[in-house]
Amino acid sequence: MAIDPVCKMNVVPEKAAAKEEHAGQVYYFCSANCHKAFVTEPQKYVAGVPKGKA
Ligand SMILES: [Zn+2]
Repeated sequence: MAIDPVCKMNVVPEKAAAKEEHAGQVYYFCSANCHKAFVTEPQKYVAGVPKGKA
């Protein structure tokens, strides 16, 4: 189980609406909107996600 870094929702990687690699880590998103928000300002969101839990 991964965590959508934008809305903090649990996301099943196989069912994620989008995914993005940032600084060597892959993040999964519940929706295209969350993905878009992340790619616009990734540094705003990555700090809130505990590393190694994806
Ligand atoms: Zn989301």
